Amino acid sequence: MGKRILVVEDSTMMRRVIMKVLKEAGHEIVGEASSGTDAINMYQELKPDIVTMDITMRGMDGLTASKEIMALDSEAKILILSNLDEEKYRDEVNNIGAIGLVNKHQTDQILELVGN
Ligand SMILES: [Mg+2]
Repeated sequence: MGKRILVVEDSTMMRRVIMKVLKEAGHEIVGEASSGTDAINMYQELKPDIVTMDITMRGMDGLTASKEIMALDSEAKILILSNLDEEKYRDEVNNIGAIGLVNKHQTDQILELVGN
């Protein structure tokens, strides 16, 4: 089956890695965004099953974008991907109502939380 996924990540190289991992697991990448603002617009247009969301991006960051997406669609499923410092975001991620927070290099955990 696989999920329809919107990948939000401002590093082109990292975005490619994440998309490759997801595709190889049978998921479909329906869109890719490199800023929070684009993520919100693309979410509304594409209605993906899941969003993977980077935190640190130029312009609107991923946590702010996630809050806005959750305000637009309380059923939205957002998986927050951090770099090396995920624990400091744990409370905020819980408050937003995201489905999880994972280090972006832990691809096994990403796939587990995305589901199938
Ligand atoms: Mg980033």
